[in-house]
Amino acid sequence: MRKLTILGATGSIGSSTLSVAKQNADKFDVVALGAGSNVEKMLELCCEWQPKYVAMASADAANTLVIKLKEHSLNIEVFSGEEGLCHIAQLDNVDTVMAAIVGAAGLLPTMSAVKAGKRILLANKEALVMSGQLFIDAVEKYGAELLPVDSEHNAIFQCLPEHIQTNLGRCDLDKNGISAILLTGSGGPFRYTDVSELDAVTPEMAIAHPNWSMGPKISVDSATMMNKGLEYIEARWLFNANKDQLKVVIHPQSVIHSMVQYKDGSVLAQMGLPDMRTPIACTMSYPQRINAGVEPLDFTKVGEFSFISPDFSRYPCLKLAIDACYLGQHATTGLNAANEQSVAAFLNGEIKFTDIARINELVLNKVCANFQNLELDSLESLIDLDRMARHYADEAIKKV
Ligand code: NAD
Ligand code: MG
Repeated sequence: MRKLTILGATGSIGSSTLSVAKQNADKFDVVALGAGSNVEKMLELCCEWQPKYVAMASADAANTLVIKLKEHSLNIEVFSGEEGLCHIAQLDNVDTVMAAIVGAAGLLPTMSAVKAGKRILLANKEALVMSGQLFIDAVEKYGAELLPVDSEHNAIFQCLPEHIQTNLGRCDLDKNGISAILLTGSGGPFRYTDVSELDAVTPEMAIAHPNWSMGPKISVDSATMMNKGLEYIEARWLFNANKDQLKVVIHPQSVIHSMVQYKDGSVLAQMGLPDMRTPIACTMSYPQRINAGVEPLDFTKVGEFSFISPDFSRYPCLKLAIDACYLGQHATTGLNAANEQSVAAFLNGEIKFTDIARINELVLNKVCANFQNLELDSLESLIDLDRMARHYADEAIKKV
């Protein structure tokens, strides 16, 4: 039995994780659940799963949950705040932690699981983008096991030899005969929209992803392709890839989830329906395979595959992220923070869709001008920089 903590249990990845656990009830024991502030959803999960522990980021939510659990005669220990989330990531009676909190809020809880040497199922890409080498070093130092959940990285992982799978972040792609990693992306809902019409995109339009069902933040990131940019940075760290080894290809059908190109001309691709239960199940049971509850892929229904190279005038955020990747940690931490603020402001109706890229660029430039030589050798220094970049972004948002 694998003993699980699910961070971000009330979200889209959390719910897919629980669905895989339900399909395989003899293999997984859900010990602890963590989330932000959605008490109703957490109560529902507690009734169904009866975990031993729960943590809510918001103290108010934790207090309300305690009362509701009593009303339902459920004996579950409730923790609160970031500390509480870090605590349930480190429990002795847990061996596997699904890291699926959205955004930088996931950094400390995920690192807490790393420091406890757990098997980390990494969905929370922002944590890795924000901390890069520090994260990879901590995985090695504390003997944690890192498995990528993000569908592209999971696809690449599956196309790599086993000794690289068990040595993420430190592998030598070139020595292993690999010439390139081809990161695929659907291009989001606006891949065919006239660029001049992007100004008028509403949150509802941006969230309606053509192929995937996901939380609101990553859905907007998919529409701007900032998501692919964050994934580019994520891939750089997970696979120790350099500029010549990383390429982005638009593949509108979302059937190929990414590919690895070998020096002999072979290209290995991982395919499947766009359903996160597949990569989640792959990491939950690695190296075994289990039923994920996903329909088998019917190629006659897919029909055709197509591929396009990304146009940076349509996707300026993708360009910003690729640039940031080579500018350094200050740039990626700053850009990630700016993007979280600008996406939240867009979802709140405060700025236009196209302002997201403008604000991200402005903050990236400011962070690079002011913090280029800043030493980022601790989580505290990264969090300080994140805070500063958010402040720059908020100032810029106010001026829009
Ligand atoms: P979501 O919005 O559906 O869920 C987010 C979860 O995080 C919720 O449980 C919420 O309560 C929790 N949360 C939010 N703020 C928090 C805080 N301050 N402290 C603790 N918990 C907090 O998001 P999602 O789509 O499930 O995505 C989660 C993560 O997985 C993101 O980093 C995303 O990039 C990544 N991811 C998602 C998908 C997908 O298909 N949904 C695919 C690949 C990667
Ligand atoms: Mg992805």
